[in-house]
This record gives sequence, C-alpha cells and structure tokens, in this order.
Amino acid sequence: MNIHSSEALFEKANQFIPGGVNSPVRAFKAVGGTPLFIKSARGPYIYDEDDNQYIELINSWGPMILGHCNELIEKAVSDALQHSFSFGAPTRKEVEMAERIVSMVPSVEKVRMVNSGTEATMSAIRVARGFTGRDKIIKFEGCYHGHGDSFLIAAGSGAATFGAPDSPGVTKGVAQDTLTAPYNDLEAVQQLVDANPKQIAALIIEPVVGNMGCVLPEPGFLEGLRSLCDKEGIVLIFDEVMTGFRLSKGGAQERFGVIPDMTTLGKIIGGGMPVGAYGGKEEIMNCVSPAGPVYQAGTLSGNPIAMSAGLAMLEYLHDHAEVYLTLDNSGVKLTQGFRKSMEKLGVEYSINQIGSMYTLFFTNEKVYNFTSAKTSDLSLYGRYFHAMLRRGVYLGPSQFESMFLSTALNDALLEQVIQANDDALNEIL
Ligand code: PLP
Repeated sequence: MNIHSSEALFEKANQFIPGGVNSPVRAFKAVGGTPLFIKSARGPYIYDEDDNQYIELINSWGPMILGHCNELIEKAVSDALQHSFSFGAPTRKEVEMAERIVSMVPSVEKVRMVNSGTEATMSAIRVARGFTGRDKIIKFEGCYHGHGDSFLIAAGSGAATFGAPDSPGVTKGVAQDTLTAPYNDLEAVQQLVDANPKQIAALIIEPVVGNMGCVLPEPGFLEGLRSLCDKEGIVLIFDEVMTGFRLSKGGAQERFGVIPDMTTLGKIIGGGMPVGAYGGKEEIMNCVSPAGPVYQAGTLSGNPIAMSAGLAMLEYLHDHAEVYLTLDNSGVKLTQGFRKSMEKLGVEYSINQIGSMYTLFFTNEKVYNFTSAKTSDLSLYGRYFHAMLRRGVYLGPSQFESMFLSTALNDALLEQVIQANDDALNEIL
C-alpha cells in the first residue's frame, strides 16, 4: 500500500502542528505507523491523499451515522450558505433545532447549543454546581468527557492510550473536586457519596461507554445511580455525546429507560459540523444566563450553517425509525462474523456490542470497566489495526475506542469486513 503522500504530509505537519495532528488519537501513537491524511469520503468509504480506499468503521468518531456526503445534509448546508455564514444573533433555525431536540431526547426540556462536546460537558457541570451550590463531581474511571480540566482525571480514550490520565496543567484544586469510581460499581459510588455528604453537585457518566472501548452498563447500574442521585440531591448527567441519536433516536436514556436530570450532546447533532448541546430539566436550565446567574456564552454558538446540517440530520433520524433497526442488525451481523473467526483461530477475545457501537478486545476477560479493558493485548491490537488497514478497513487507531457503524454499510460490505478480519488474524497470529 502506497502512503507516500501521507508520510510527506505528516513530516511537514510535525513542523507546524504539535505532534502533527489537531487531536492526539489521530497520530496513530497507540498503533504505530504514519497517520493517513484524508482527502475525501463518500457513503461508506474514506479516501486518503494517495487515493487508497477504505471501508469506514469510525465515521469521524460518530457523527457520520448516515455515511459521508448524505445528500439531505449537503443540500441543507448549501441552502444555508446562501444567507451568510454567521450572524451572532438569534435565528429561526436554532429555535427549530431546540424544539427538535426537546421532542427527541426524553430528559431535555430546555437546551443550549454550543460548539463541541467538551463545551457541553464543561457547561453542564458549571450549571449543576450553580444549581446545587455544591463543588464536587463524580466521574468514572475510563470515561472521557472532553478535555475540560475537571474531566482529565482518570480519563479514557486518548488519555488512556498515552498512559497520562492526569494531564499536566490541571491544577490540584480542580483535581480535588473530581472524585472517581470504577464503572459499573454502585457500591464505590455510594462510598464516595457517604464520604462527601452534601458536597456532590453532579455525577456524570457515559451511559454506554465509548472511551475505554465500548463498555455496557450492567443491569441495574444506571437505575441504581438514578435512585442514589434522587436520594442525595445530586444532578445526574448522562454524557450522550457518543450515544445520543446513535443508540436510539432518544439516545441511551431512551434505550435503557433511565432518565437523567441533564444530558450532553455532540457529534451526530451537528451532522458533521462542530456542534454540541447541553440540556435538561427546565428548573436546572433556567439557571443559565441570561435566564439565571450561571454564565455561559459563545460567538459561534447556534451557527446557522451548523444548525442547518444538524437539523437535517435530526429530522431524518426522527422520521426514519428503521435506521436503528438497520444499525442494530449491522452491529450483530458484524460481531457474529468476528466471533466465528476468533473461535476458529482460538484467539483470546471479548466483544462488546450494542447497536452500531462495538469493540473487539484482545483479552478473554469480560470487559465491564477500565481495569478489565486494560487486560487487552495492546500490541496485538496494533498489529490487527494495520492488517485491517492493508485490507481496506479503517478502524479506530487505539484499543480503547468504540467503532461507529453507519447506515451506508450494506450486507456485502459487512461480509467484506468479516472476511478482512479473518484474513488479518490469519496473517498476524
Ligand atoms: N463526551 C464524550 C462521551 C465523548 O466521547 C467526547 C469526544 O469524543 C466528548 C465528550 C468531547 O467532545 P468533543 O471532542 O466534541 O469536544
């Protein structure tokens, strides 16, 4: 496979951009080799600067749930472009967007648009602190909520990959206010709450985790958190930046039937444009300025081009419930195919899958929290990643990531990926 253009671009990028990339996981540090520089993408395929074609299982880390260049979204963006790109003033589109989100996400009665998932989570905990008058938050080891200071404590994903969960630059004061518990461990959460009476403002969680690889909540875990938060007056925040509009049109909260007090959104909500949102109960959201005293703002928030793309996406998902059935079937078909190969070859593996999210871990332990995720053979994952790439399949360049399927993957392409998986394993084992 010729990747000369990517190699040349990476060399040049390193002169001008720290590490050559604008987000750490893109550098392929966890799997080795040169990151591919992408020129274009369409439907289920992505193309690098050397015109190699790959089947997409990442889809921009989630947003491209309908595949690339969906024509409805393209049209919405090109129509919006006729009216200028930014006003910094209220628009009809952002009202329609808010109304649409409220109609789809069960916990959201009022919502504020921002520009990224990071902004959404940072803002949500500020509001929860303002609402409760308390300072501390609880998060889970291996959950990633963006790069806000309060969350770079036992964070998963890129931070886990680099073995630097506590980033330099985060002050001790901030770190002290973030308490962490192992995922799926209700008892540990109870102990934190008991040890910090009336001090916890919020508990934030990925209701299904994508950032230590895909990890599912055990039966009763989310329900247990809900009751505990109710009892203790803690704001329960579901970070649905990955799962929102992906696991169902109402996200993980609809799928699991557990409704948080606040929800953070990103990725799919922008249809590929930079958008985030946070919302929740009216009495909590009414704390946000100018309705209330908690300050949060943004020059480009509710940007008309981004709102048009996002709204086209959400309207499509709202009107096409069959999308989720298709995605669920694709997730099951793909992972069943993988399991067959793994069994045949006697590889130690564990697969977590729900709907269109899955991770294949190279461990025979059940993966239910960050400690078990870290039993995976990371060097084997690196070899597997490159063997799949050589066969034209684009996966996440780290064991601690979820894959994100799109509706553009038809049965023939899923078969192709299953075959590539079989061939790749035969090559590397
Ligand atoms: N929350 C979760 C669950 C995420 O997965 C991410 C990013 O992957 C974020 C928050 C941060 O979103 P962004 O990268 O848009 O800032």
